[in-house]
Amino acid sequence: MNEKYSEDQIQKLPFMDKNLDLEKRVEDLLGRLTLEEKFKLSSGRRMWHTKPIKRLGVKPFTMYDGPHGVRADTLGEIKSTYFPSAICRAATWNPNLSYEFGKAVAEEVRDVGAHMLLAPGINIQRTPMNGRTFEYQTEDPYLNKVLAVATVKGIQSQRIAACVKHFVCNNQETNRFTVSSEVSERALQEIYLPAFKATVLEADAWSFMTCYNKVNGIYGSENVNLLKDRLMEEWGFRGFTVSDWNATAFTNTAECVKAGLSLEMPTAKKYNKTNMRNAFQKGGFTEEDLNNNIRRLIRVMFLVGIYDDEKAVLKGCRNTPEHQAIARKITEEGIVLLKNDNASLPLNINSIKKIAVLGQNANLKIEGDDIMSSGGSSINYPPYEISPLDGLKEKCLNKVELTKIPSEADATIIFAGLNHDHGMDAEGEDRNSFELPSKQIELIQKTANECANTIVVLINGSPIAMNNWIDNVSSVVEAWYGGMEAGNAIANVLFGDTNPSGKLTITFPKRLSDSPAHVSKRTFPGDDKVYYDEDIFVGYRHFDTKDIDPLFPFGFGLSYTTFSYENLKIKKKKIRIDDVIKVSIDVTNSGKVKGKEIVQLYIQDIESSVERPTKELKRFEKISLHPNETKTVIFELKKEDLSFYNEANNSWVVENGAFNILVGSSSRDIRLQGEIEYLG
Ligand code: BGC
Repeated sequence: MNEKYSEDQIQKLPFMDKNLDLEKRVEDLLGRLTLEEKFKLSSGRRMWHTKPIKRLGVKPFTMYDGPHGVRADTLGEIKSTYFPSAICRAATWNPNLSYEFGKAVAEEVRDVGAHMLLAPGINIQRTPMNGRTFEYQTEDPYLNKVLAVATVKGIQSQRIAACVKHFVCNNQETNRFTVSSEVSERALQEIYLPAFKATVLEADAWSFMTCYNKVNGIYGSENVNLLKDRLMEEWGFRGFTVSDWNATAFTNTAECVKAGLSLEMPTAKKYNKTNMRNAFQKGGFTEEDLNNNIRRLIRVMFLVGIYDDEKAVLKGCRNTPEHQAIARKITEEGIVLLKNDNASLPLNINSIKKIAVLGQNANLKIEGDDIMSSGGSSINYPPYEISPLDGLKEKCLNKVELTKIPSEADATIIFAGLNHDHGMDAEGEDRNSFELPSKQIELIQKTANECANTIVVLINGSPIAMNNWIDNVSSVVEAWYGGMEAGNAIANVLFGDTNPSGKLTITFPKRLSDSPAHVSKRTFPGDDKVYYDEDIFVGYRHFDTKDIDPLFPFGFGLSYTTFSYENLKIKKKKIRIDDVIKVSIDVTNSGKVKGKEIVQLYIQDIESSVERPTKELKRFEKISLHPNETKTVIFELKKEDLSFYNEANNSWVVENGAFNILVGSSSRDIRLQGEIEYLG
């Protein structure tokens, strides 16, 4: 069992044979490991690696952050493409771009010799105040699922493992290491779990990261219900689970092993040899329990090709013009035009003479930020970074004069917003204010008095209040944290080279108290427990049902053109169990420039035995149209799209009766509607 092999002998062992069936290779290697070696494989070393087992040629498996690009070292010496934040990528509503991002970032992971990317982060944006809102995609479970699946598929197309995180209900940073998210089964099923589940069922995700927090009283890393019962047994996950870094701190060794936690990161604590040995000897877990965990880790090692000639598997590449172009494209499509009075945007490069550029984010660069003090685990070190001002300078070169004096300018652009400092959009703490910093508000108000055409470009990653300044300015652009090409993308949008086509993936409330998680301290941030009393009424589900006007609704975003919606047709209005509901609509670009529209379909249950949201997103499609061009968008729905989770009998139910099909340009701009009846 404990035999030492020479390099030549190792090459001849069955598990090294790439032509052998995957599961046979896994079993062969697993069968050769001693109990102690299995203990050793269960935890990491030096932050990002598993431990090698030299006797058998078992190489370290390497994983790096994060959601916006690979960061192979925390000092920033190894440069890599810095992609836009997840919230910006999501605002494109373009799953192809999520796939392209996933593929590109995986090529960079391979290029730095790693095997797994610690991404995507797909926790639901329950509150605008979560310090990590910028790292997550949306408040809506359907949009979350479509984008998560595309991202995982893109990453894994390069035989790099995606690590879907943080499983689950890690929706705030306050007390993140200890808080228990108290959440109903219905909210788990309808809101928090769907995207996680879909990455397993539809994208075969190879890894899941457990959350720091407890879910209904039990830590994510030792949560049998989440890991064993749902992820592994119910969803058929074949990958491995890894703890968030030090998420095992307050857990118990045997409970983690039995729950199915394969790998403790970053170093051995609960899974150190002594703890493992003791727990095993006391009967806390069996060797079979451990085998189940190690088998999964080994399986992924084979899936990423760690024992094959890695260079022959797939070649990586990094910092290529192609990757930089993908980063720019995502930002261009993710920027959301929130307000545009008197069509003050786009700016006309041929007629505008002078632009004043102000604001503390004009020169914002994430590059050079220190991982420990800002942003957190999603920080990147790109080879260059185009700030908003850099982008404007380049665009205006020899054409438009840039100044700092609004009273002299034809237009003033204020780059406002947040950054990754503590208390803003940063890991480890939640935001300390829903407002823009007061200096920025003053600047906006003062400038608006001096220049009639004031444009605010927001660089931030979560909704902020605008009530005390938005009426003073002509335009507002939500540009997010747009990665290393942000400045170029912003300039393209401001001057109309790119017609903005992003839409919000999270509701922007007028005031924080309108937001469903901000009813009391109990619902946010809680104490030992945080109660998800809003249940399934997260985001627009809450605003719609309670009839509260948001500042900007979910799915909202303007364009430099207009779109008209006509001819909603539903093929079969009375449907039975296996029928497909086919909905078609004609969308026309009724304006003067080419543009992209995100056509959204929501369902509304007209009569239900339980309370349901006023509307729920079920399909969307992003289409590109030339002026006067019309496209027919066809959506197909199934009975599952009409269902809700019934806690009375723990199952998904579709009740007979009428449903509205709502189609529109945002969740609050429904252009067409039709009715169907489910007959069962
Ligand atoms: C974060 C994870 C990250 C890990 C490794 C944790 O603090 O929550 O998202 O992947 O650190 O850096």
